[in-house]
Amino acid sequence: MTDAQTWRDDFSRVLSPVFGAPQLDLVRGQGSKVWDASGKEYLDLLAGIAVNALGHCHPAWVTAISEQAATLGHISNFFTSPPQIALASKLHEILDLPQGSAVFLSNSGAEANEAAFKMARRAGGGGRPIVIAVEGAFHGRTMGSLALTAKAAYREPFAPGVPGVVHVPYGDVDALAAAINDTCAAVFIEPIQGEVGVRTHPAGYLTAARELTRAHGALLILDEVQSGVGRTGHWYAHQDPEIGEGVVPDIITSAKGLGGGMPIGATITVGTANTKLLEAGQHGTTFGGNPLATAAALAVLETIETEGLLAHVRETGTWLRGELEQTAGVASVSGTGLLVGIELDPAATGGADAKTIAARALEAGFIVNPVTPERLRLAPPLTITAEELQTFLTALPALIAG
Ligand SMILES: *Cc1c(COP(=O)(O)O)cnc(C)c1O
Repeated sequence: MTDAQTWRDDFSRVLSPVFGAPQLDLVRGQGSKVWDASGKEYLDLLAGIAVNALGHCHPAWVTAISEQAATLGHISNFFTSPPQIALASKLHEILDLPQGSAVFLSNSGAEANEAAFKMARRAGGGGRPIVIAVEGAFHGRTMGSLALTAKAAYREPFAPGVPGVVHVPYGDVDALAAAINDTCAAVFIEPIQGEVGVRTHPAGYLTAARELTRAHGALLILDEVQSGVGRTGHWYAHQDPEIGEGVVPDIITSAKGLGGGMPIGATITVGTANTKLLEAGQHGTTFGGNPLATAAALAVLETIETEGLLAHVRETGTWLRGELEQTAGVASVSGTGLLVGIELDPAATGGADAKTIAARALEAGFIVNPVTPERLRLAPPLTITAEELQTFLTALPALIAG
């Protein structure tokens, strides 16, 4: 048997089938590259789905984790630790949070949204049964976050789901206005919808959502699990005036890039009133905010700052999207910063879907994500260079043409 057969067989013997068959058996990473067991090199244009913000094995991240692991790894939330307070302080700083705001730390995006969902149930003192989310939304796979996720195929096998969630059509202010009333606790919105192929909302949508939620005493909750932590060239996407339109949310959820590969999530309440939505004892997590994860996240945020990565992402992203727009076989390009959707031109693909093209890319040494049948998603490390991206741009027309 070849090595590939061995790990595939071993995988299916001992691991859950829920993710489908793994494409590669990866053994090592460095910067924007990863290697499989046979020694083949790949340019990682997905970064663990927008997670490896600093790329693989960045020295600052490795040092922070190694030193913290050798100092104090886990303590429970009966106690706090210096990296936990430092990380929360840093989040206050980069989000320019008003006094009274607070960070609740957990372990994943779904968990960050679960906490936000529980806060929503307490909005207005409780008794507001409706929570609104948007069609095309992805908020996670646990029961609460799954209820917020739009795709029926994800939800229906697990009925009955968490009640009260209403999905409104994407980009439709009138539909949102019609759905919201004083029984609504919260509106959940991703500033950029990732799973549907990277799309922003029409101009004015977030502003309208803010006005409508305020008028009805409902919370505006921005899910920045994918779009946060420098991905757009801003700390959080809503801080980009073009995307956020100056809107100040009530709650922000964060995860993915925050730990740079270490599991961590954050639910950030803006202002004293939102912080008081949950009282002591109403929520919890064993691992959330532990010294190891918070030390890793702190290293991510500090390195984004010291290496000037926000400006790098804006510059590189603008250049990349400009180049992609002129690439043969690309119909259109969406997204901002280094969160990019590539709509394939059906006339150029010869009938091949995005999955087929992603498979060709993998064969050629590029990791990309066929996020829908027509679209590829790129979310490379924030540290990726134009030279590295150029290798993909050069290869892409042939990958699309087949
Ligand atoms: C990935 C994602 C989640 C879920 O995060 P997990 O860490 O997989 O639980 C939630 N919301 C958005 C916008 C995401 O992209």
